[in-house]
Amino acid sequence: METLKVLILEDNEYDMELVKRSVVSSSNYHFQFTWVISKNDFIKALTDTKFDIVLSDYNLPQFNGIDALKISKEINPNIPFIIVTGTLTEEAAADSIKAGAWDYVVKERLNRLPLAVESVLKLKNEKLKLKESEEKFRLITTSAQDGIIMIDNEGKINYWNPGAEKIFGYSIEEVRNKNMHSLLAPSKYHSQHLPAFQHFRETGEGPMLGKVVELEALKKDGTIIDIELSLAGMQLSEGHGAVGIVRDISERKIAENEIKRQYYFIDAMLNSIPIPLFYKDTKGKYLGCNEAFSEMFGKSAEEIRGKTVNELWPEQYSQTYNKKDMELLQDKSRQRYESVIIDKDKKEHQVIYDKAVFYNEKDEVAGIIGTFTDITEIKKKEVELILAKEKAEESDRLKSAFLATMSHELRTPLNAVIGFSSLIDDSLPLDEILEMAKLINKSGNHLLNIIESIFNISMLQTKELKIRPESFSVYDVFLEMKSVIEAEINNENKEHISVLFEPEPNTTSTTIVTDKTKLIQMLTNLLSNAVKFTEKGKIEFGYFFTERDITFFVQDTGIGIPSDKTDLIFERFRQVDDTHTRQHGGIGLGLAICKEIANLLGGSLWVDSEEGKGSSFYFRLSDVVLKDAALPENVAEPSIPDLNNTALLIAEDIESNYSLIEAMLRKTGAHLLWAKSGEEAIRLASENPEVSLILMDIRMPGINGYEATRSIKKIRPKLKIIAQTAYTMPEEIEKCIEAGCDGYISKPISKIKLYDVIRQMM
Ligand code: ADP
Repeated sequence: METLKVLILEDNEYDMELVKRSVVSSSNYHFQFTWVISKNDFIKALTDTKFDIVLSDYNLPQFNGIDALKISKEINPNIPFIIVTGTLTEEAAADSIKAGAWDYVVKERLNRLPLAVESVLKLKNEKLKLKESEEKFRLITTSAQDGIIMIDNEGKINYWNPGAEKIFGYSIEEVRNKNMHSLLAPSKYHSQHLPAFQHFRETGEGPMLGKVVELEALKKDGTIIDIELSLAGMQLSEGHGAVGIVRDISERKIAENEIKRQYYFIDAMLNSIPIPLFYKDTKGKYLGCNEAFSEMFGKSAEEIRGKTVNELWPEQYSQTYNKKDMELLQDKSRQRYESVIIDKDKKEHQVIYDKAVFYNEKDEVAGIIGTFTDITEIKKKEVELILAKEKAEESDRLKSAFLATMSHELRTPLNAVIGFSSLIDDSLPLDEILEMAKLINKSGNHLLNIIESIFNISMLQTKELKIRPESFSVYDVFLEMKSVIEAEINNENKEHISVLFEPEPNTTSTTIVTDKTKLIQMLTNLLSNAVKFTEKGKIEFGYFFTERDITFFVQDTGIGIPSDKTDLIFERFRQVDDTHTRQHGGIGLGLAICKEIANLLGGSLWVDSEEGKGSSFYFRLSDVVLKDAALPENVAEPSIPDLNNTALLIAEDIESNYSLIEAMLRKTGAHLLWAKSGEEAIRLASENPEVSLILMDIRMPGINGYEATRSIKKIRPKLKIIAQTAYTMPEEIEKCIEAGCDGYISKPISKIKLYDVIRQMM
């Protein structure tokens, strides 16, 4: 139990006892009483001891209760003082309360005393707490760096802490009762203030309450500073007041403005760089880019910011970018490499990336900054230069090769002419002279051929040769050509080579209209090449019709032509082998002449060949078969298979071969898909489940027919595949079957063969 020290000032002992008893009677406290009578003892007691309460009589011998109260307040202003008297008039009671007595009790009603004691002690406690809180408030507000300002209901300042004094330069005395707004707000805010304040006065509400706002404010010396103000409303007895906490943010603003200035400067600098530039954080998210970058990709910096490369570019590009970024973040250094980017128009560019990491204030890697230089044009120029150089070298080499070939080709027959003619004299027997004359004649004819070829090609190229179309029987031409081959075989002593003649059956009276002489010239060239470049095997020669078109073919099992040379051989003076050690004679004009003739006759000439295996030359003339003679005599058109609603995939790298097949299948109603390579054949077969048959060319660049067949059979084992092979050796066919082909058709493909094999498969 708490002990309370009570000082009783009373001249009557009896009364003193009554007071004591009364106090003790109903209380929760434990009391320790001190009784004094005289003024001196009263003063001494108060000075010596810290009492919790004073109970004083009103009428005392030397002085009265009011005097005692004054003394008590002087010595200790916080001691609760209760006047206990028998004579108290209402006036005296009022005086004592006015003088500072905490309460009074009349002796006749002493039973009220414990209650009075209780309530003054409570009051004392509250006062103490209030004081404490006031002290805390004072401490906080005086030590705060921020300015704390309170205004009353009229907007006048009634509180101003040292912080505010420091910020604005005014002392509390200078601002007290002054209107805060007029004093501190620059004139630009005045017009909006009045209505807002009026509203606040009436309602206690305002747009700025409860918020932190940045404003400008006026200092005592007239300068304007940036402040941050947070305002709170408070309910005062006389109406709505407010407390504002003000922070001087001038320095922060200066720093912020400096950052802004630097940012704008850097931004302008980056944008003035014509090379695309970007920066990312360590997670690979774009932090920004310059205008050149935005321009290149058609995306603004805002669209790019926060995104990763995965979100912005297709996987084939973003994968590399990510990998390179990771490497750079790990190495924490610089990077330079060539790569490919895709611009806003989906165009690829070759670029050189230059990238480096950048650091934050803690010296940690904060991200990547990078640029790239477009080198597409440089690369193109590089390739062009290399090509031009190669071309120049090639043309140099060709010049020498041409001279060597010509010199050789002219010298050989000339040598024979000069050599044999100088040997002839009258001492020689006649049969030897005749033999020599024959050789001289042969060499002379050979020379004449060469010269004719040269004239021929130049006439053809200057378009001086006119075509003379006439109608004639193909079969007659065929027979003529047959004797040409036989003579050639004989001439070259190659009787071991078998020659197969394959005219389309029953077409002996089919008539075509074209320039017969030129057609014969071309076929002669193709046939004599076949004999010249074939050492063993066979030569096939024939023709077939597709509607009103005719296609001649000359196929051999000779040395063949490498795939990269199949175009070149049709150029003037070009040969597959142009070294001086070449085996076969010729000056490289035959096929160039054939090509010119083909153009002149409106036909197409092409070759399908495989090095080491043989060559097939095709010559196709469109729309030359005379209408009434179009069909082979006595024989109906082979019955056409119905391929409506059937999809066929034709894998064939040579366009002319494809167009032949296309022409042959036109009437079947088949839907055709054309794959120009093995890769494409695999893709189309897997993407188009409706395809039920494939005509697979075996010899294709890249993935060949065997490999393509194997791959397709893995995906679609039931899909029928027919191999098209040009060189139908047994081992060739075996290889096709082994690869998974269900059948084969040998080239040149005729309509009958094609229909038959399709019928077998379907
Ligand atoms: P030439 O036969 O006089 O060399 P061509 O223009 O007739 O001239 O032929 C050009 C080249 O094409 C030949 O040198 C040869 O390399 C190649 N060539 C032509 N026909 C065949 C063929 N049937 N087989 C292999 N190579 C051929």
